[in-house]
Amino acid sequence: MELATSFSVALDNLDLGALGVVSEAVSVKVLRLDQYMPDMSGNKYFKLKHNLAKATASGAEQIVSFGGAYSNHLHALALAGRRYGFKTVGLVRGEIAEPMNPTLADASAAGMQLVALTRSQYRQRHDQDFLVQLQRRWPRALIVPEGGSNAEGVLGCGDIVDLLDDQLKSDYDIITLPCGTGATLAGIASRLEPGRSVIGFAALKDQGALDKDVIDFQAMVGASNTRWSIERRYHFGGYAKVNAHLIQFAESFRKATTIELDPVYNAKSFYGLLSEIKRGAFAPGTRIVAIHTGGLQGVRGMREKIDQFVSQR
Ligand SMILES: *Cc1c(COP(=O)(O)O)cnc(C)c1O
Repeated sequence: MELATSFSVALDNLDLGALGVVSEAVSVKVLRLDQYMPDMSGNKYFKLKHNLAKATASGAEQIVSFGGAYSNHLHALALAGRRYGFKTVGLVRGEIAEPMNPTLADASAAGMQLVALTRSQYRQRHDQDFLVQLQRRWPRALIVPEGGSNAEGVLGCGDIVDLLDDQLKSDYDIITLPCGTGATLAGIASRLEPGRSVIGFAALKDQGALDKDVIDFQAMVGASNTRWSIERRYHFGGYAKVNAHLIQFAESFRKATTIELDPVYNAKSFYGLLSEIKRGAFAPGTRIVAIHTGGLQGVRGMREKIDQFVSQR
């Protein structure tokens, strides 16, 4: 199996003036991982690439993983399975409603076997006994945790730094991105050159263990960089929670830049970043790379809610 490594990725200059942010002090470039692969979504490809390589090396016949009904991860896994010739099984939290939503319909069309787990089964997804049961059911499968957040996933996210350094050489100081489990943040921190740091904008609330998780994820790849931090004030009420203000922000961002942001992750991280710039959080001259982590496939499932908020204006 040949994994794609040579795609180039766009780095867009963000026009802060057009976004109503008056700051001559900082510059922002957007790393468009949302456009990296034509069919797979953003950071989830990076979290999968070394898992796919491991599956190949170990002779696994399938990859089994977990996610919600709108999961970017299951979507990317299904499409990666089709692209690289793997069977995939998606264990979906809760019911699989018919007709399927666009995420699950794509996954199914790409050949993923979808199996519904009850919410109580789903809660056991990290338990050893439950994983042993799953392994009995799919004996030749590689089981990948939710979100692709394992050592291979962290390693793959480190590759984002190489991609950036190839294109940007030394011309940046700070990377920003949205955070769910923190595995992507950890992978990036693990490979940063001295003098650079990374800031994660938490998309979930009440993640007491997130700092520890980032440390643990880094330890999985033998790293212990401390030049990272998490900004927790821009989760808008928690995972997948949105309000009119956030949706209207994403809409005006799109109009000003042509860049579309998903409400679950990137609308929050870009809202947070612009707010932090406005309040003067960055030293004059700071060169920021804001990673767009993708997630646009999931927007389709929120269309109605989004249109309601946009029309409330
Ligand atoms: C999964 C996901 C994230 C969060 O990644 P973590 O490694 O879990 O922190 C961010 N953005 C998008 C679009 C995602 O799909």
